[in-house]
Amino acid sequence: MPSATLMALTALLTLGFMPVVLTPTIAVVEVAASPTELTYPSGVGPDGPIAPADTVVVEGIRVHKSIAGALAALLADARGDGVLMSGWGYRSSADQIRLRRAHCGTSEYAIWRMPSSQCRPPTARPGASMHERGLAIDFTCNGRPMAGTRCFRWLQANAAMYGLYNLKSEPWHWSTNGR
Ligand SMILES: [Zn+2]
Repeated sequence: MPSATLMALTALLTLGFMPVVLTPTIAVVEVAASPTELTYPSGVGPDGPIAPADTVVVEGIRVHKSIAGALAALLADARGDGVLMSGWGYRSSADQIRLRRAHCGTSEYAIWRMPSSQCRPPTARPGASMHERGLAIDFTCNGRPMAGTRCFRWLQANAAMYGLYNLKSEPWHWSTNGR
């Protein structure tokens, strides 16, 4: 006798049910059917830099796989409200070092030890950025900066439901712990 799960799956296939909505130009990962099925990432995920193999791309934004479902749902729900956002997520530790050289200076002190706040713009030390964990996203609003936009207000009202929190000094930067 088939299990209930198998019977349900058979019924879905019979109905032609498509659990994943695919569009030709946008990579979309599996999206949970309802918010209650989301895995909320707060307090979980890697606690240090990760390899690209642990990331996936959600609508052009590369993130750690632990938050892919939540991000896909966030972007889809925002779009449903007429709010169009894109952005950047994961960056490798080599990328972080390049940013430190550009924003902080090229000495060993500047790259590895100078406080983030002394860099322009502020840039986390290599190994300490939430972007290196794939757990932070820098959003843009319809291709424009986030400050003062409808996108920013939408995120302020809703992002916590998807496990993302704003770094107060940077309207574009949202992560699983607000850092
Ligand atoms: Zn950022």
